[in-house]
Amino acid sequence: MAKAHILGFPRIGAQRELKFAVESFWRGDTDLTALQETGKTLRQRHWTVQADAGLDFVSVGDFAWYDQVLNTLALLGAVPTRFKFDPKKLTLADYFTLARGNPEHFAMEMTKWFDTNYHYLVPEFTADVRFDGGVDWLFEENAEAVALGHKTKVTLVGPLTLLYLGKIKSGITNKLDLLPKVIAGYQNVLQRLQAAGVEWVQIDEPILALELAAVWRNAFAPTYEVLSTAAPKLLLATYFDQVREHTALLHRLPVTGVHLDLVRGAGQLDDFLQDWPQDRVLSAGIVDGRNIWRADLDAALAALQPLQEKLGDKLWVSASCSLLHVPVDLANENKLDEELKGWLSFATQKTHEITAIKRALNGEKNAVAAQFNAAALAVAARNTSPRIHNPLVQKRLSEINKISAARNNVFADRIVKQQARFNLPAFPTTNIGSFPQTTDIRQARAQYKRGEIGHLDYLNKMRDEVRLVVQKQEEIGLDVLVHGEPERNDMVEYFGEQLWGYGFTANGWVQSYGSRCVKPPFIYGDVYRPEAMTVGWSEFAQSLTSKPMKGMLTGPVTMLQWSFVRDDQPRDTTALQIALALRDEVVDLEKAGIGMIQIDEPAFREGLPLKAADWPHYLDWAVKAFRISASGVRDDTQIHTHMCYSEFNDILPWIAAMDADVITIETSRSDMELLDGFGEFAYPNDIGPGVYDIHSPRVPRVEEMQRLLRKARGVIPDAQLWVNPDCGLKTRGWPETTAALENMVLAARTLRAEV
Ligand code: GLN
Ligand code: ZN
Repeated sequence: MAKAHILGFPRIGAQRELKFAVESFWRGDTDLTALQETGKTLRQRHWTVQADAGLDFVSVGDFAWYDQVLNTLALLGAVPTRFKFDPKKLTLADYFTLARGNPEHFAMEMTKWFDTNYHYLVPEFTADVRFDGGVDWLFEENAEAVALGHKTKVTLVGPLTLLYLGKIKSGITNKLDLLPKVIAGYQNVLQRLQAAGVEWVQIDEPILALELAAVWRNAFAPTYEVLSTAAPKLLLATYFDQVREHTALLHRLPVTGVHLDLVRGAGQLDDFLQDWPQDRVLSAGIVDGRNIWRADLDAALAALQPLQEKLGDKLWVSASCSLLHVPVDLANENKLDEELKGWLSFATQKTHEITAIKRALNGEKNAVAAQFNAAALAVAARNTSPRIHNPLVQKRLSEINKISAARNNVFADRIVKQQARFNLPAFPTTNIGSFPQTTDIRQARAQYKRGEIGHLDYLNKMRDEVRLVVQKQEEIGLDVLVHGEPERNDMVEYFGEQLWGYGFTANGWVQSYGSRCVKPPFIYGDVYRPEAMTVGWSEFAQSLTSKPMKGMLTGPVTMLQWSFVRDDQPRDTTALQIALALRDEVVDLEKAGIGMIQIDEPAFREGLPLKAADWPHYLDWAVKAFRISASGVRDDTQIHTHMCYSEFNDILPWIAAMDADVITIETSRSDMELLDGFGEFAYPNDIGPGVYDIHSPRVPRVEEMQRLLRKARGVIPDAQLWVNPDCGLKTRGWPETTAALENMVLAARTLRAEV
């Protein structure tokens, strides 16, 4: 009989209970007991969901107070030694200090978990880091589940993934030198789990989805040789991409089962099935763990049936990866219309899909017929619904080759015309877009959403805000102004709400890091712009000043990247649809007399696939989407773009290929070093390297910014340089914003005097 399981369940809670409990504990409003109680309740609830759905195991080890990687370190006793905590006596308060820092110690670094929007804490490896045991939380949680009558499968971040993702801090030169200690640590944990009666341990090694150097690949066999002795049965989990190149390795590895992502790596199955070891469990990740669409159960069954004939009870059914990356429960979406809701599936629903597939495989098709029928209806509806397929968009897309994805002339010609039109000084000063989103603004928006103030009142309030922002910028003496984006709650949501094809949830929260959650919109249909989205705001703002006012849009890749996307067409098709909608907006802005238009692409780099071999394809369509959106305008209309959180050096040819007239980037925290690559590459267009970090309220001194600008002048020709902060100012307060921008303008002016 096939079995059903998941690799992990979201821990945050359907109503973000964990977030609120943790934050309340941090503020000192509630004590440790209350926090522990919430954790326990959530674990219990999530196990009940899994058991009720009919999974063969409940997942233990997916709960974490902040992050699963930090939990693994706490379990092994391998927390960063600079904090001087005794790993065996680590308290929950210590654990949070590791994650968040305190006045004496900066927090552990945080970075993206593979290509997801989840952020983990980066392990810190020093010569004195130990792996000889830490907290007992995992064992206690397992006992908790067992006491509730559940059959558990314990999940761990794998030893090689843990090492690979960590950073060397001091005292060692090669992370793999730590491997013997790491293995001993895991051995210890595995033996304790075995003693506790745990039958299965799932070890996650998602690094197998990367293009691994030979030293790492070769470390797998010796590591698992040791771990498989005196241990529970091991299920080695791979996900986020196909791992075909490791077929032989995974066949030989002494583990009892292997999990494959059959959503991202649908094509890899045939390779694996050839010579599949008879005694080995194959866990088929057939339900999408990264997206929110209802599964096509018939298709899943059809894909797994031949597998079952081959593998029998060695076949397990699962989601592609942990359900951490999707919201908890669709049942809480009571504002969504029934049709849209019928197309979706969140973590809770996915557990039921997995068991339905399992039961059908096990000859219980009749018992799950209703589920299969409902899924088939949803799939059929999505295939034909006019809400998804818009003939206008389809027609335009089919003719996209008739649309130019290039400006009329090259940058060298355009910039002459732009300079004649705008007559900007050397080192022009500008902003990235947003100005402080004061409580006043947020309150007005909340009141408007609740219907407490009318449309006109809200509009007037936001217009007052734009007036203020324009006046301030003129007083400060900036050269190119922005309207400040007060009318926008979020740079994706704002546009998504005005475009057809985008849907929004009320509670579709997904953990981003620690207690932080995001609620991504979902793109369900052809993206269509029924009417202009920003023209009124930009026109109004421009009417207040004789200085150029930048129009402000979110680019196609970012609109895609920060949403759940359609699975019925390739990402690039959706990106091009968004690009066409934005192109119309850009053209409308131009018609309304807006001379500069910024198309933000902060998520451009995030979209890069895990395997470098897949980069060119992505970069080609991402650049094309940007260019489609940007190239409908005259030579003397200046297109800006903005990117932050980015490393650029390895993708500079594509950044240049975007051909924005001006790009503003985040550079101050790298002390301008990020700019070196642009210099070496001889980046041809204008560039505004951020001269101050907007993440902190600290007001940078004039001299600091001068120093950074002089550094920039050493790398980039004067004629190409702009002066601006790293990013938008919406999280800042007014006093520091005014002071910082005044200093920034002074820095630019003194620089002008130097040339
Ligand atoms: N224009 C946006 C702002 O200033 C850009 C935000 C971003 O890059 N994340 O807020
Ligand atoms: Zn930014």
